Amino acid sequence: MKPYRIAVLPGDGIGPEIVREAVKVLGVVAERTGVRFDLHEGLVGGGAYDRFGTPLPDETMQLALASDAVLLGAVGGPKWESLDYSVRPERGLLGLRSGLGLYANLRPVVVFEDLIDASPLKPDVVRGIDLMIVRELLGDAYFGKPRGVRIENGLRIGINTMVYTEEEIRRIAKTAFDLAQTRRKKLLSVDKANVLEMTELWRDVVTEVGRDYPEVELRHMYVDNCAMQLIRNPGQFDVIVTTNMFGDILSDEASMLTGSLGMIPSASLGAKTAMYEPSHGSAPDIAGKGIANPLATILSVAMMLRHSFDRTAEADQIEKAVRMVLKEGFRTEDISQAGARIVGTTEMGDLVVERLRAFSG
Ligand code: NAD
Repeated sequence: MKPYRIAVLPGDGIGPEIVREAVKVLGVVAERTGVRFDLHEGLVGGGAYDRFGTPLPDETMQLALASDAVLLGAVGGPKWESLDYSVRPERGLLGLRSGLGLYANLRPVVVFEDLIDASPLKPDVVRGIDLMIVRELLGDAYFGKPRGVRIENGLRIGINTMVYTEEEIRRIAKTAFDLAQTRRKKLLSVDKANVLEMTELWRDVVTEVGRDYPEVELRHMYVDNCAMQLIRNPGQFDVIVTTNMFGDILSDEASMLTGSLGMIPSASLGAKTAMYEPSHGSAPDIAGKGIANPLATILSVAMMLRHSFDRTAEADQIEKAVRMVLKEGFRTEDISQAGARIVGTTEMGDLVVERLRAFSG
């Protein structure tokens, strides 16, 4: 079988530490299945700027474009905060997203039973939560024109434009319906159609796409109500699809249902090469200390196997191995609880690897 080509971009801060553990997990999957992964490392973010004067060197973009998937750690840190916006590490990430045409960001929000106390909400509200936010990533006010701040009649005026074409809405809706079909077959589309015409179009197009998915139950909700319902009764949701800006806000809100940033993976899907990364940043405050939680990055590898390589069984096993390690009481410091056995980044990676190796078949 042809090997899968993966661009590995560790990035800055804790990026290299957590990506190392995720790569170990990929190694075990290769051992157990005979599937080959060709890994090619590249520079992105602050480290790339230091070496090449740009956070996204051409070489890295070409590497990503020629790969079947990208595994990214995180970028950024105080060292690069005073740089011009055009060369900040985070620009490297945006460049990768637009260069790869990654229009759908998937962020699963899963409350692990053994981490239920980490949530700021009551256990009864968050127990068993397993939802997926599908955020459109390449449109809306983040890219719409006109934009900017200018002076009119001696006063400053700030402008951004919310814009979506019918095709952009259709493709993200299809991604969400396809996903809902593999889950509990419930899709919620979030908009503000009572006030914003752009999202009226959003609602119409999502409804049209839904006619091709009769088995998926489609509901619509205004974003303000959804923000409230996510706290009041998050168990009612399976897949949520929404615009770039609403998704930006709702996915951060939803991630806090779990209470642990170090546990949330993400996938960004496009036409071909998808990118997988933890939802957290480069955590410069703990970089180099060997205490970063690698589980979000390891869970991102599970998403890669599921969404890019169609290896559902292996993805399930990685998630199962993570649950086992948590059940046995092992914790990195960020998710520590009374009575927990605190381990560092490498040890946590080793534990997942050991549990994976122990599965038969
Ligand atoms: P952050 O997510 O890096 O850190 C927030 C807090 O969570 C910190 O206390 C950190 O120690 C902790 N934390 C995060 N991930 C952890 C992990 N895996 N294990 C243990 N603790 C963890 O957010 P921030 O501090 O706002 O940003 C730091 C840098 O990261 C900034 O330069 C920011 O621009 C960048 N950033 C990058 C991405 C990305 O690469 N996708 C995302 C967000 C922020």
